[in-house]
Amino acid sequence: MGTRIMEVRCRLIIFFHNRKGSTSQNRGIIFQTSSSMESNASGTAGKPIRCRAAVCRRAGEPLVMEEIQVEPPKAWEVRIRIVCTSICHTDVTFWKMDSAPFALFPRIFGHEAVGVVESVGEKVEEVKAGDTVLPVFWSNCEKCRDCESSRGNACSVFANQRPGSGMPRDGTTRFSGANDGEAIHHFLGVSSFCEYTVVDVAHVVKISSPIPANRACLLSCGVSTGVGGAWKVADVEPGSSVVIFGLGVVGLAVAEGARRRGASKIVGVDLNPDKFEIGKKFGITDFVNPGACGERPISEVIKEMTDGGADYSFECVGLASVMADAFNSSREGGGKTVILGVEMRGAPLSLGSYEILRGRTVVGSFFGGLKPKSDVPILAQKYLDQELNLDDFITQEVSFQDINTAFDLLLQGKSLRCIVWMDR
Ligand SMILES: [Zn+2]
Ligand SMILES: [Zn+2]
Repeated sequence: MGTRIMEVRCRLIIFFHNRKGSTSQNRGIIFQTSSSMESNASGTAGKPIRCRAAVCRRAGEPLVMEEIQVEPPKAWEVRIRIVCTSICHTDVTFWKMDSAPFALFPRIFGHEAVGVVESVGEKVEEVKAGDTVLPVFWSNCEKCRDCESSRGNACSVFANQRPGSGMPRDGTTRFSGANDGEAIHHFLGVSSFCEYTVVDVAHVVKISSPIPANRACLLSCGVSTGVGGAWKVADVEPGSSVVIFGLGVVGLAVAEGARRRGASKIVGVDLNPDKFEIGKKFGITDFVNPGACGERPISEVIKEMTDGGADYSFECVGLASVMADAFNSSREGGGKTVILGVEMRGAPLSLGSYEILRGRTVVGSFFGGLKPKSDVPILAQKYLDQELNLDDFITQEVSFQDINTAFDLLLQGKSLRCIVWMDR
């Protein structure tokens, strides 16, 4: 245990060695950590709970607010009262899918959230009722060979049964229609578009610092993926050049992570020219719109801007062609390309072997290479220490009943993150 604490502290110091001034503003509502007596006071432990959920009935259609029943947690499971949630592009991607094997309805989406433990099942010892927790789609059992390795953030606890439409250990659902008992599918092991959810303990991160709920929520997926990509996967060095393809939340969070590591030039690449002004808040120093480059390959433009190629090149879009552009924009003899986008169509990545022999590398990682249980609390503390800008990711806040408005804002490109409050 002592070794582990030391390790965490060392990483923390390394990450913020090159920190600059604070960018935190508008702290918002301070998250009130609930009493550990919460479940006892409400008397819900061990019983089904009836509550509201925003259920997706058909691909691409507005979510429907329904009364559902949430079963008590089984062994290794935690039932969480969601405080607030936000919408990530992955929710939208799956919401649009209308064919097998991904189209599973009715389903409760949502995988960025923060909440309070209502009750726990047998064998759960690391959290208790009343604890503030982040449910995270990426498992971290802390016991398997991969979790114990420092070489990455893979976790093999569910190697043969990755979270799909049910709970990861037995594949069954904890959600059903309150009136008809119809089974409702889970999503990515989280399903946060409801007032209560059940999550495997391997997907739960305890948050002990007093970070506001709407800021903590952001650390559950997109922002952590970007910041982690710059920190853990790329290990960006001071004075280096960075290019980021795609300035959505993940790409902007890469910029935030890269500037905290001391990168001197951070080039944003996006088809939306408005993203330059937005990106400046997170450290973007230069901007290229590929649509305005004429016949010139984007990689040539980037090489010219970075004196021969970027030291670190990030792909945050999820297109194989853009991944190739990112690779070709990296510097010969040491340039590193980091893939954070998910190629949902399964298109293969084609790279020249000669280019790799010239010293370029390509790496990729889910969740920015972070081990959720140990690394996410570090990011939360960074925010409180004014060493990580989370405030500027929040563009709107709505009540749960208006969750479809939050979807529309994201679909229309008018939102980075819209916080959805469950109790408003
Ligand atoms: Zn996500
Ligand atoms: Zn594991």
